[in-house]
Amino acid sequence: MTVWDDLVGQDRVREQLAAAAKDADALVTAVSAREPVEQGSKMTHAWLFTGPPGSGRSTAARAFAAALQCTSPDRALGGEPGCGFCDGCHTSLIGTHADVQVIRTDLLSIGVKETRDLVRRAQLSPAVGRWQVIVMEDADRLTEGAGNVLLKAVEEPAPRTVWMLCAPSLEDVLPTIRSRCRHLTLGTPPVEAVADVLIRRDGVDPERAHSAARATQGHIGRARRLATDERARARRAAVLKVPLRVADVGGCLKAAQELIDTATDDAKQMADEVDVKETEDLKAALGGVAGGRMPRGTAGAMKELEDKQKRRKTRTQRDSLDLALTELTGFYRDVLALQLGSRIAIANVDVQDSLDRIAESSTPAQTLRRIEAVIACRQAMDRNVAPLLAVEAMTMSLRSG
Ligand SMILES: [Zn+2]
Repeated sequence: MTVWDDLVGQDRVREQLAAAAKDADALVTAVSAREPVEQGSKMTHAWLFTGPPGSGRSTAARAFAAALQCTSPDRALGGEPGCGFCDGCHTSLIGTHADVQVIRTDLLSIGVKETRDLVRRAQLSPAVGRWQVIVMEDADRLTEGAGNVLLKAVEEPAPRTVWMLCAPSLEDVLPTIRSRCRHLTLGTPPVEAVADVLIRRDGVDPERAHSAARATQGHIGRARRLATDERARARRAAVLKVPLRVADVGGCLKAAQELIDTATDDAKQMADEVDVKETEDLKAALGGVAGGRMPRGTAGAMKELEDKQKRRKTRTQRDSLDLALTELTGFYRDVLALQLGSRIAIANVDVQDSLDRIAESSTPAQTLRRIEAVIACRQAMDRNVAPLLAVEAMTMSLRSG
């Protein structure tokens, strides 16, 4: 086992990171021994990981972080850092290493204030480890102001600080920032490789692992959820029935309402799990008594938390709808493949009957129009059209005729 085991189907990226970790290790050793540092090091202070959702951007960053913190004695014997066993590797991978901070946001954007806090932290020397590592999972969500704050830190990093930014594509990151990062691109991992990791790591039975990997087309996180979460399977099954239910206006409106209700339920469940505790924690921190009045001057902080929770709710609902739209697109893509007799692998083999029915009762031109309707729905939501309106417009366009 090594730190790279969870990085699925990304051999080239893995090689580059392993080489950088080796040079980083030599760098730390040389500096502490006061030897001259070798030129042309493969290590650098700012990295940008891009790749489609589910390709393993943050997994790659975490594995790299672990390799940088590796303290295995084998390294001195020429072994590669990233053993996966030592304390440095292990705590980095499970998220408890004092010098590895992973920034994940459940909001639509990362603001100036949070970024300032991070930048301040990045100025510090590592507390116990060899490097101070900051992994930002959603660098595409930095506001422009936050990006400018970050830029300064990336331009003039502290000697032992490493930034690892993750984003879907280069275009999602401010040009000034991306030009200062070393860029690594992850591809969509092969279905076989995803199934393999589900079997090996999550103990999923092979048939279910293959079906989940195929259905999600190389998206590791979604494949895992589908293979291990009954609720996710029920959810997908409901979404894939939508194409059969849009025969008349009543069916269209009903299907739209259900898609929205499901997304709202997701947001509510998330809120129930997190918000209550978060609110109680903040109240306690501000010196409030359970059930009592809050001390003077704390209203602002409470309001700030409420706003944050509201934004998170919106985001969770959006993500849930987004997933449903992705699944619908996949369904019609399969229909189109059947209609055109294409040899590409069908993703949703478990609903082959429905695919056949729709493929036989419509034309490729209709299928293309339906795919466009799903894409238009996503675009409408990006423009902040009310979700129910956007989804209703979509289901109406999915009707035959
Ligand atoms: Zn190690």
